[in-house]
Amino acid sequence: MARGDDIPSDIRKRIDRCKAELATLGVVLRGSVTRRYMPCGKPGCKCMADQPVLHGPYYQWTSKVEGKTRTVRLTKDQAVVHQQWVDNARRLRRILARWEAAGEAAAKNIQKISSR
Ligand SMILES: [Zn+2]
Repeated sequence: MARGDDIPSDIRKRIDRCKAELATLGVVLRGSVTRRYMPCGKPGCKCMADQPVLHGPYYQWTSKVEGKTRTVRLTKDQAVVHQQWVDNARRLRRILARWEAAGEAAAKNIQKISSR
């Protein structure tokens, strides 16, 4: 008979590591932060020269809200913080993937026990 506590210690340890890493995350933010250089389009501007010197950098955070892309302009300092939060979201997804992989291993383990 398979029971929910038939979890081998190595799988428990994998889950505990996920929990510990999860506890270190602060703000998580969807989207991406980009840095752009752009022309302004004014005739005679350095950005319109044969060897253009573009304006910028401009920082922006892009995310999807209900399927629509939303872009927000940021200062450099804001961009640094947004990037850290976006990186945290990536770490969160990696932790979740490892946590689910441990779940796969736990499921396989009780499937073996049940079929005995
Ligand atoms: Zn220009």
